[in-house]
Amino acid sequence: MLVDTHCHIDLCKAAVQEVVSGDIIIISNGTDLQSNKKVLEYAKIFPNVRAALGLYPTEALKLSPKALKEVFQFIEDNKNKIVAVGEVGIDFYHITDLKEQKKEIEVFKQIIDLANKINKPLIVHSRKASEKALSLLKKAKVPVVMHCFEGNSTQTHEALERGYYFTVPANFWTRKGFKKTAQRVPIDKILTETDSPFLSPIEGENKPANVRYAVKKLAEIKQIHESKVETQIYQNFKKMFIKE
Ligand SMILES: [Zn+2]
Repeated sequence: MLVDTHCHIDLCKAAVQEVVSGDIIIISNGTDLQSNKKVLEYAKIFPNVRAALGLYPTEALKLSPKALKEVFQFIEDNKNKIVAVGEVGIDFYHITDLKEQKKEIEVFKQIIDLANKINKPLIVHSRKASEKALSLLKKAKVPVVMHCFEGNSTQTHEALERGYYFTVPANFWTRKGFKKTAQRVPIDKILTETDSPFLSPIEGENKPANVRYAVKKLAEIKQIHESKVETQIYQNFKKMFIKE
């Protein structure tokens, strides 16, 4: 069974039935209040879709304290319908203003507290902010998945020592940072994702079924049979997100 641990069904332009089709389990990640509501709806309609509710770091900057509270409350109120808190984190690539970065950090701290409170794993965005994200995540008492991680070798090993998992996108071999992570992280700590509709490995809009490209390429670089990679990643997914 293929697994797309991180995508945004609500942002895809194609018909949703088409986006979610395939023999695949999908975790759709919310990015703001509206998006979180849609994610819950899709998880209710489609049996292969699971919900992660979150707040994209750049979206967080647009919100008043009251609106922020509303997002957090919504996540808490729906904790029994979700498998993770995501997409959340910090982004110093798009956000370069120090004051705004400070706000991102404050919001992320509150989100880590929230994940601890509701006891759900975190799916973390840390673009150009690996060091800071890892330092803030010391407070996390829940499992952590680093999405599209591009940290250096030391940071990757630090995260591995803490037991974190890493998602590699369907086009991971096209970007040096993603490729390095896929090479450094052992297969029992890797999860696959597409970040659909973004990061497509082929022409056109990305979709969850394209996660098979990541599996294929992982098989190549890890020198493991493709079917074994698929099985291992499904095991990793179960370990991370399914409470038995
Ligand atoms: Zn994303």
